[in-house]
Amino acid sequence: MESVEYLVVGAGVSGLSFANWLREEAAARGARAPEMLVLEAEAEPGGYCRSVLRDGFVWDYSGHFFHFRHPEIEDWLRARMPGADVRQVAKRSLIRYRGRDIDFPFQKNIHQLAREDFIDCLYGLFFRGQEEGGVPGAVGAPRSFKQMLHQRLGAGICERFLVPYNEKLYACDLDTLDPDAMGRFFPHADVADILRNMKRPDNASYNASFTYPRGGAVEYVGALLHDLPPAMLACGEPLVGLDLAAQVATSAARRIRYRHLVSSLPLPRLLALAGLAHDAGAFSWNKVAVFNLGFDRKGPSGVHWIYFPDRELSFYRVGFYDNIHDGDRMSLYVELGAPAGAELDMEALRARVLADLAREGIVSGHRLVAWHSVILDPAYVHITARSLAETRRARAVLEAAGVHSVGRYGAWTYCSIEDNMVETRELAARFAPLLRASAGA
Ligand SMILES: Cc1cc2nc3c(=O)[nH]c(=O)nc-3n(C[C@H](O)[C@H](O)[C@H](O)COP(=O)(O)OP(=O)(O)OC[C@H]3O[C@@H](n4cnc5c(N)ncnc54)[C@H](O)[C@@H]3O)c2cc1C
Repeated sequence: MESVEYLVVGAGVSGLSFANWLREEAAARGARAPEMLVLEAEAEPGGYCRSVLRDGFVWDYSGHFFHFRHPEIEDWLRARMPGADVRQVAKRSLIRYRGRDIDFPFQKNIHQLAREDFIDCLYGLFFRGQEEGGVPGAVGAPRSFKQMLHQRLGAGICERFLVPYNEKLYACDLDTLDPDAMGRFFPHADVADILRNMKRPDNASYNASFTYPRGGAVEYVGALLHDLPPAMLACGEPLVGLDLAAQVATSAARRIRYRHLVSSLPLPRLLALAGLAHDAGAFSWNKVAVFNLGFDRKGPSGVHWIYFPDRELSFYRVGFYDNIHDGDRMSLYVELGAPAGAELDMEALRARVLADLAREGIVSGHRLVAWHSVILDPAYVHITARSLAETRRARAVLEAAGVHSVGRYGAWTYCSIEDNMVETRELAARFAPLLRASAGA
């Protein structure tokens, strides 16, 4: 049996960040580099932050765009991407509603709708919580995401965009989600914001501008690999068993005794591998089918992505890579939400996506010259009161056994890659006293 001080499971952004931060903690203290092994199930590192290069097109596992709130994190990454061409882009995103493109977010741009829709939205906004057919119990603290939407923005806005769009995305009843299911990613607006926006447009959001490397999101993964010794990484070697009491992990290739384990596996999968009793019903999620499509010539310009609330359309969002990098051929990512257990016939879906793109006038006589598809499963976890409680409980039990469950799926949350880097930096800092001890030894 092999043994290692730190076993990291998953070489996505979270696992790779942790490995870097821990080495930096040790270096800052003059301690020896911690003994570390990173196990990755796939043949290559990067997790959901990988990119695909095909026929001159660069695609991600669904469009990944970056908005750093911690300049030192962005600087850290950029210092490890010498010569990279990273664009800073002022976002232009639209919502297609009944054939009209209005600015995102919908709730702040209802004045761009057709007159009848505008009146209904404004009426619903003013009389929110009181409308006939309004959500029952709409006074007091909202009990669900759907109720929060109705209470804050009224029936007109909810029925036209917020409910159908988010139902397509999450593939679940929004009444089951926690009111804060989207956290800071939900663009809140009150009546004053909405009215002010009619006069002085200000559609600033958490990602009003974003960065994107010419080589795709994977260039940030390259930065995370830059300082790590290649031997530290074992790809194609999934974790298949975990004995918490003995602190022994079993991979597809070997048994490894560890002192500390950091995992970015989906939390319910880790709990099952460890044989820990848990409330499996607390964890639900959607999956997202992504079609990356390359065409022979340019399509619409001046837009980075479009949201589609129309339930008749297969996709909920379509993004245009070629408008980020001034490409001369239309390069799209198309996202479809589905329940976790759904069987997806990707061939049939691709045909439907192409038909829907034609219906929306995005594809118009274009020839598809390259394509790629991937299913992200899980993609968006369903944050509910039950999932929050069970996640908190289970992570505490794991931590008491020396196992830290981190990342978008390890912490069962909604976050960005920067959040993954911040979370793992904090975790690495917690190990500092142990590293100091090894410096003195
Ligand atoms: C549709 C979509 C769009 C997104 N867009 C953005 C965006 O624009 N900007 C942004 O900042 N973030 C975005 N994100 C979020 C971003 O993808 C995640 O925050 C980040 O990639 C999560 O990294 P992670 O390491 O926590 O998890 P993952 O990327 O899931 O990494 C986990 C790793 O564990 C590996 N693994 C799984 N099982 C095993 C096993 N048994 N043994 C060993 N290894 C295993 C996996 O192969 C994977 O490599 C998006 C996410 C989705 C779903």
